[in-house]
Amino acid sequence: MHELTLAVALAELAEQEALRCGASHVSRLHVRAGVFRQVSPDLLKDAFAQMRRGALADAELDITVVMPAVHCLHCGVKEAFSSFTTHCRVCGSADVEVRGGDELELTGMDVAEADDRQACVTGGG
Ligand SMILES: [Zn+2]
Repeated sequence: MHELTLAVALAELAEQEALRCGASHVSRLHVRAGVFRQVSPDLLKDAFAQMRRGALADAELDITVVMPAVHCLHCGVKEAFSSFTTHCRVCGSADVEVRGGDELELTGMDVAEADDRQACVTGGG
């Protein structure tokens, strides 16, 4: 099960973060999951619920599904990804790149008790 593997990785990452900032209780993890990851948020939450322990014992997942963007390398236009675009809609260049949509990141944690709450954010992008 795909989500189980991801849940293990997330739990390990969050545990390291909690240790790093001295968090004794994490109430929520904020996660960005690219649409190309094909993550089912419900399955991921269920899988994560089986991993929880220690500071994460009752942590919930807050999952944001991220859509990719199309960047034109010719004119610099950046557009929301809608379909498999092969040409820039503005200048017609084929020099386009799809970026994002495959991320899986822990962008933050809601921490109830910690030595250094400010440090309990992984930084995002
Ligand atoms: Zn363009």
